[in-house]
Amino acid sequence: MGLEFIYSQPVKIYFGAGKFELLGQILKELGLRRCVAVCDPFLSPRLDALRETIPAIVGVYADVQPNPQLSGAAATAALIREREADGVVAVGGGSTLDTAKFAAAIAYNGGEALDYFRGNLVFPLEHIPVVTVPSTAGTGSEVTQVSVMSHGTEKKTINHPAFMPRAAVVDPLLTRSVPPRATMNTGLDALAHALEGYWSRNHQPISDLMAVEAVRLVMENLEAAWRDGTNPEARASMSLAALLGGLAFALPKTAGSHACSYPLSEDYGLPHGEACAFTLDSFVRINADARLEELCRRAGLRGAEELAERIAALKKLGGLRTRLAELGQVDLDKLAHDSAVHPLMKNNPVPMDEAALRRMFARLA
Ligand code: NAD
Repeated sequence: MGLEFIYSQPVKIYFGAGKFELLGQILKELGLRRCVAVCDPFLSPRLDALRETIPAIVGVYADVQPNPQLSGAAATAALIREREADGVVAVGGGSTLDTAKFAAAIAYNGGEALDYFRGNLVFPLEHIPVVTVPSTAGTGSEVTQVSVMSHGTEKKTINHPAFMPRAAVVDPLLTRSVPPRATMNTGLDALAHALEGYWSRNHQPISDLMAVEAVRLVMENLEAAWRDGTNPEARASMSLAALLGGLAFALPKTAGSHACSYPLSEDYGLPHGEACAFTLDSFVRINADARLEELCRRAGLRGAEELAERIAALKKLGGLRTRLAELGQVDLDKLAHDSAVHPLMKNNPVPMDEAALRRMFARLA
């Protein structure tokens, strides 16, 4: 059968150093007059300073924590209703963006956040517009219809058109304050998105192009951004890599490494990027085929083996955990089982059952 695909990308993207300072103007241009801002506690003073110039911000929720809890989205939705907001602006890392997307989707539809999380209520297609302003270079949440939320220790990735942002304001200058270890975690998250979007069973040509460029940008710039967070070229390239990584996986979705990242985060507390990176070089070797070799060459590498070695070296450089022994008492059977049954595992090009995953994790003992 011939080539067939449907491609769509509805998010208006404003990219460039200094764009954050133009937020008020951008909200005006988008026709948003009463916005609730959702803000990372770290970025909150920056937003406060800017608020003088943005009359459109009528309320702020600034209590988002990493691996965001559903209760934060519920509180934000209540604030949106109370202030009768017509838009939401999210300034922060993936945790902040995902909280804002979830809150905006349910704010005017009524019902409990937990019922949406559990699937007892269906997200409406109509929702108030969200403008995303990422302050990390990793998740790509600024352009995806994904929100990752937790209720207690239960972490869930929800993929729904209700979460699609209206616009993304990507200002690489915001990422200058991200500490080196988080720079490495988030940068490898971007790499995982690009690779997994590319090797996903649902991959398609336009997403593939963005994946190749994202891999090239990460390979050429992540170490430099880690070494010197104030390096403007490296930071801008990593923000672009994260954006392209988000677009690369938005439609094909991710695969094996992301499936394994859920039990690694839930049971052993690894941050999302570190959890994805934990098995990424293993999956590069498992999924190595002619297509992946071609991606590597187009991204400036000799091949998949070099890619796997470079990922391992970046993890070591950043001080990321690479062995199960570093995670405390690990239940290998549960880890292999929970990874195998995660829905994203079905997207992996090489079928991986529980036994195969157990063997892979045993090699990382
Ligand atoms: P994060 O938002 O959890 O933030 C991590 C830490 O970095 C926080 O302490 C935060 O305060 C701090 N921080 C953020 N920006 C900073 C800055 N500019 N300077 C200094 N510190 C800063 O981190 P993240 O990696 O961006 O997001 C991870 C979350 O996103 C996870 O919950 C993950 O599951 C989710 N995620 C979502 C998608 C999606 O498409 N929606 C994709 C991948 C991951």
